[in-house]
Amino acid sequence: MRFEQADSIQRDGVVHADICIAGGGPAGIALARSLANGPVSIVVVESGVTDFEAANQALAEGTSTGDPYDVGTTRARRLGGATSHWAGWCRPLDAQDLAARAWMAHSGWPFGREVLDPYYEQARPLCRLTDGPFELGPLLAHPTAGVEAMIVNDVVTTAVYRLSPGPVHFGEEYRGDLEQADNIRVILEANVVDIAADGSQSHVEHYKIATLAGNRFSVAAKFFVLALGGIENARLLLASAPAGGVGLGNRHDLVGRYFLDHPEVTAATIVCSGRVPPNYLGGRPDYVRTVLAFTPEFLAEHELPATSFVFEPYPWDQSTDTDTRVSPTDVAAVLRAVEGGESLPYSFAMRCEPEANPDSRVTLGQARDQLGMPRVQLHWRLGPHDRARFRTSLDEMARELGIRGVGWLRREPTSFGAENETYFYGAHHMGTTRMSEDPALGVVDPNLRVHGVDNLFIAGSSVFPGCGFSNPTFTILALTLRLSDHLRALVT
Ligand SMILES: Cc1cc2nc3c(=O)[nH]c(=O)nc-3n(C[C@H](O)[C@H](O)[C@H](O)COP(=O)(O)OP(=O)(O)OC[C@H]3O[C@@H](n4cnc5c(N)ncnc54)[C@H](O)[C@@H]3O)c2cc1C
Repeated sequence: MRFEQADSIQRDGVVHADICIAGGGPAGIALARSLANGPVSIVVVESGVTDFEAANQALAEGTSTGDPYDVGTTRARRLGGATSHWAGWCRPLDAQDLAARAWMAHSGWPFGREVLDPYYEQARPLCRLTDGPFELGPLLAHPTAGVEAMIVNDVVTTAVYRLSPGPVHFGEEYRGDLEQADNIRVILEANVVDIAADGSQSHVEHYKIATLAGNRFSVAAKFFVLALGGIENARLLLASAPAGGVGLGNRHDLVGRYFLDHPEVTAATIVCSGRVPPNYLGGRPDYVRTVLAFTPEFLAEHELPATSFVFEPYPWDQSTDTDTRVSPTDVAAVLRAVEGGESLPYSFAMRCEPEANPDSRVTLGQARDQLGMPRVQLHWRLGPHDRARFRTSLDEMARELGIRGVGWLRREPTSFGAENETYFYGAHHMGTTRMSEDPALGVVDPNLRVHGVDNLFIAGSSVFPGCGFSNPTFTILALTLRLSDHLRALVT
């Protein structure tokens, strides 16, 4: 219907809607868009505008007290959220990522992959992914797949990603759809600073909104959705407490705990024997990338978490979106150099699934932001078994590559558990409002409703109880489209 600036809304006024969505990142946009031009009135309140604005972005600053983590730059306070600078890697979670695994504490989603499958299909066009398979089998017939170089056996498999062309910036791509929908109002530079609930804290009455210019108003709705990202969802719940309270939906002290991200490290250099699996298969528009992973059977037998490995001899320049995809000439040149005795180490990077750890958590700091909200404090910690498991995974992959004659690995001094360990993260904020049927074990139920609050739902990776190695946004979108069906049935 229209985009409005929050400062144009009447001071202390109340805006009404059937559903109010806080946050205009991919989750909030996908949810609003899926309900466009229907009978349900929607208000989206978004902190930013389409472009980067330093004052809005400053609201995302916080501190990190655990393993090094940049809370500010891994988030984007603008329409489209972090898709303004994401890399566009898309892949569903694997079935075993959702299963309860005895060796992974706190693992297991309340439903299986089959529940998400139809929604993954609906999520594809949102990221402009082509129709090709995520499974390797049909790709092997692809003329440029380099089949002979792929590794698929009892131990190792090759996992397929599809890359969002562009990649799609949800704020730019879908702004027009939201503007044209006759049932949607988007209010920009509107910051939700409080979730105002009734006396029993079991029913949300309105979102309180504040602007940097000093305006204040509320949005009242039948149903409320938090889609603020994996850190901010927890921050707002924790901050929304009557004096002395523990935070909304936080009766069991779970909000903010179990923060997950994908630890990433350049684990080793590999000296290749000449059989390097290609990273890229095919070219645009069928934009595909592959990584090495272990088979589910191997992971279960060795009680290991999900891990992906990637050779990085030919970087893809994300800043210029230049496809420096390996060309046959490049490969030949490199291999000739290796065979000629030149030491050409390829980096061998791994991305891992950490165990959900209650002590890895988001809390509220003492400092306050420009709107008076407590700044976020992140304490990111790997679980007690994670490092040993990551090392074992690397050893097992090294053994396999050696047996297959692909090459041999030399562990990097910066790898997990090594002397100069330096690991990074995917900027994937997950787990802080985890999903469980049991209110004592999760913040939201399997329909993403906050336990104990009858009209508050959460969209985003904060609801993930575990994370596999796949990047999260494709699963965020699938869950959000499932939530959309649920809300539509509730409201109409
Ligand atoms: C550098 C980088 C690369 C990435 N690459 C990939 C990738 O290749 N593949 C992948 O799957 N994922 C990737 N991600 C992660 C991906 O961007 C996130 O998973 C995704 O953006 C999360 O979507 P969201 O809508 O839940 O949250 P966000 O994108 O964080 O959006 C939240 C929205 O809420 C708004 N907001 C925040 N607080 C308030 C408030 N109080 N009131 C109102 N509005 C508010 C924000 O302005 C923002 O628009 C990457 C992230 C980064 C940083």
